[in-house]
Amino acid sequence: MNPYQTRASGCKPELLAPGGSYEKARIAFLYGADAVYAGGRSHNLRIQSRNLHDEELAALAFLARSSGKRLYITLNSLMRPKDLDLLKPTLEYLREIEVSGIIVADPGALLLARTISPGLPLHLSTQASTTNHLSVRFWEEQGVRRINLARELSIDEIEAIRSRTSLEIEVFVHGSMCVSYSGRCLLSTVMTRRGANEGHCAQPCRWSYRLVEEKRPGEYFPIGEDGQGSYILNAQDLCLIEDLHRLAGVGIDAFKIEGRMKGAHYVASVVRAYRRTLDACRRSRGECGPDDISRADIHAVSHRPYTRAFMFPDDSQDAPAVAPETSLVQTHTLAGLVRQRPRLDEDPIGTTPIEDGRTPDWTHLEVRSQLRLGDQLSFLFPDGRNLEHTIHSMESLSGQILDRAHPNTRIRLPIPFPTFSMQVVRLSRRG
Ligand code: SF4
Repeated sequence: MNPYQTRASGCKPELLAPGGSYEKARIAFLYGADAVYAGGRSHNLRIQSRNLHDEELAALAFLARSSGKRLYITLNSLMRPKDLDLLKPTLEYLREIEVSGIIVADPGALLLARTISPGLPLHLSTQASTTNHLSVRFWEEQGVRRINLARELSIDEIEAIRSRTSLEIEVFVHGSMCVSYSGRCLLSTVMTRRGANEGHCAQPCRWSYRLVEEKRPGEYFPIGEDGQGSYILNAQDLCLIEDLHRLAGVGIDAFKIEGRMKGAHYVASVVRAYRRTLDACRRSRGECGPDDISRADIHAVSHRPYTRAFMFPDDSQDAPAVAPETSLVQTHTLAGLVRQRPRLDEDPIGTTPIEDGRTPDWTHLEVRSQLRLGDQLSFLFPDGRNLEHTIHSMESLSGQILDRAHPNTRIRLPIPFPTFSMQVVRLSRRG
């Protein structure tokens, strides 16, 4: 069987990306995601992310439908009695705006969704920790259409489940991991009263810990592997980009990227890397994997050391899933996002000829990192090209010449190649 099928509703395997905000969801689509999962303002596990308000959800659902993509809404917190009351109007609204499906973990939420929005496809969250084919059958009998299997399974176990079900199967291929079965952890609740399963995880598993003897307050004994302390619970980040072909061969329907709390640079780079690798595998008849551009994309973004975690337990080359150090690494950061020009009446100087008589080809940039003259920018294109530009001049939108631009301002730059709105622009990390 060809694992790469084109279906009327989209490609298989589907590339499913995080949409932590309206902007990031649109960037995910621009850089190649087939589908995006996003949360409203409640009932999801990324309450600290910006998430989307009702109008943004409706706009994104329309955008997805009209461009052959899909939008799934996460409602995967564990529900308390009051949460179920609030869930009813949410479900009615999601049915009305015709999202492609909802992601639940709580059986009560599933039951309610079946009653209130019977036509809405139901996806089971990884929080349900589905680890065998009988569990899959159980959820199928409850009306679930797709299951995101537990992140803790190996490829052999996924294959064994696949061979016993025709239900859609989804797996995480990239992003942060828990040191427990995903989300089945009360560390954050116990230490900070912020419940992970209500979307408030403070990630104490990634804090720096030291040893202190009770009669010697203030004397900290380092127990860690580096000078900053020990990160004994610090999970590495999952990365299975080298293994997509092998995973697709098992018959997985959707590859999911974690990271609704991550920024636009992460979304564009990681989605582009997986999109291009999946497409290369779809075209290839033999072995295939990421090219140098995709590998660079994966390392450009802020991440902990990568691991294949539990997927290939017999591969001795895999690093342990817990990192001895906590530091995030990245080669680039987000310089800014290209924005459409303001209307002419708001930007009269935008058409003023420059000294040699030419009108400069201004690109408007919403700045996200401090920029200085001489900085090297890289404009990311969905097809894998990165066009470089050294900043020799930049201006405010009112025409003031700048030698430095600050985050959360808008500037314009004379860029000698076409750019597009929402384009992600990288900045090389300064030493
Ligand atoms: S504290 Fe760590 S292991 Fe526990 S839920 Fe949060 S991220 Fe996961």
